[in-house]
Amino acid sequence: MTTTDWRALAASVTYPTGLLIGGRWEAGSERHEVVTPIDGTVIAEVAFATAADVDRAVASARAAFDDRRWAGMAPADRKDVLVRWAHLVNEHADQLAVLTTLEMGKPAREAKAIDVRACHRTLRWFGEAVDKVLDEMPKVGDTSWAMIEREPAGVVGAVTPWNFPLTLETWKIAPALAVGCSMVLKPAENSPLTALYVAQLALEAGLPEGVLNVVNGTGPVAGAALAGHMDVDIITFTGSTTTGRAIMTAAAQSNMKRPYLELGGKGANIVFADADLDKAAAAAAWAVTYNAGQMCTAGSRLVVHESVKDEVLGKVLDAMTALQPADPLDDSAPIGAIASARQLDTIHGIVLEGLDDRGRLLVGGEPVLTETGGSYYPPTVVDDLIPDSLLAQKEVFGPVLSVLTFSTDEEAIRIGNATNYGLASAVWTNDLSRARKTSKALRMGTVWVNCYEEGDLTVPFGGVKQSGFGSDKSLHAMDKFTDLKTTWIELS
Ligand code: NAD
Repeated sequence: MTTTDWRALAASVTYPTGLLIGGRWEAGSERHEVVTPIDGTVIAEVAFATAADVDRAVASARAAFDDRRWAGMAPADRKDVLVRWAHLVNEHADQLAVLTTLEMGKPAREAKAIDVRACHRTLRWFGEAVDKVLDEMPKVGDTSWAMIEREPAGVVGAVTPWNFPLTLETWKIAPALAVGCSMVLKPAENSPLTALYVAQLALEAGLPEGVLNVVNGTGPVAGAALAGHMDVDIITFTGSTTTGRAIMTAAAQSNMKRPYLELGGKGANIVFADADLDKAAAAAAWAVTYNAGQMCTAGSRLVVHESVKDEVLGKVLDAMTALQPADPLDDSAPIGAIASARQLDTIHGIVLEGLDDRGRLLVGGEPVLTETGGSYYPPTVVDDLIPDSLLAQKEVFGPVLSVLTFSTDEEAIRIGNATNYGLASAVWTNDLSRARKTSKALRMGTVWVNCYEEGDLTVPFGGVKQSGFGSDKSLHAMDKFTDLKTTWIELS
């Protein structure tokens, strides 16, 4: 296997920098500098959309939807376009990976293996599904016909974050386009490059103009314009709970568009004394350091039985200490940069605020590699927390582990559920009954047993409580972008 020279590619890769509206690239009236968290330098300048630009993008998506240039295409042809797009993503995997690294700092090696692969597979999976989802004809007697048809819901607005830009964007684009909707996508401010590149590949794959529009821009301007737009039928969002609330309010106060929200989390690794402790500790260390902890599903709480706490914590500390941040263009970097200087400040601010509240810092706790000009935070562990502690409640979105202990199964469940979030957690035990009882009692969208972060496109991903509603992935994701329409025909 040949390895990619990421630095050379970073210096030579090219990409569009405009707004994609109606199949054409527009320079836009406002420009914005893109800063890489690798060393804090400006690497690009892209167009940022005004509210008027968003209006035009919505109008273009509406025109594409209303004239049925996409929804009216034979399903097999729509499938072909999405599958062709998936192949193009694969062919451009190195370029997409290096752009991911440049804009948000994760190791290029991982961007290629995880993000680009997920983007490719998601487009392919939903493309393949296009002509396999059937409408229904219930039995209503001999004198009538009733048809239940899945109709594309219309124009979808999508607002996405920067932690897995390609993955999270295509989790929304692929099912929405598969059912025949058109879309206006607003990627996160600091990760616009991959969205532009992948949209260019869509045009190359033959996606009709106006079906996918991309309006980079700020949340308060472009994101809010989309969420409050009177001609957007659905707003699908991944990001913080605070923004999710604003989006839901904007949806309610405008045209009552349907909101779907994938929000924050405060995941736990709940480790019982009978578990495979080596495996649990390795997973717990990985679950909070992978992607530098910038995961909604990060295992940011270690909830461990008091009888094995010292043993497990010792192993977790050993494993986490080995995962120090380094230049993400280097294939040996265990973890990369924090996505932006702003996010670095947020992480460090929460750690300081948390330590002020309660807890004992065991490792980390200060930005590192500051001489690079980039944004790096080391694996950080805070012990002696209780369920009410700030660091047991607040999502950090960085490589920061909060340690809590329990003495009974009931207490483990209580602590597991003791946050406003309900996204994902893991249970570690070799007792099947305990695994079932605990996983059933946890109010989470996903519970892993003896593993962390496992998944597949066939299973839904989403949260409950203040982690949101409306799952991405799986055939259920297609339901979100369809309306059920009944046609009743009375026979003479
Ligand atoms: P964020 O909410 O600040 O930003 C996310 C997106 O929302 C960006 O595109 C931003 O421009 C936009 N936005 C901001 N204000 C807006 C407004 N008023 N109206 C419309 N759009 C607006 O979140 P972030 O800091 O970029 O991402 C981190 C958060 O995302 C974390 O809380 C994390 O848990 C969450 N997240 C959740 C999932 C999931 O699937 N549940 C996945 C990844 C990230």
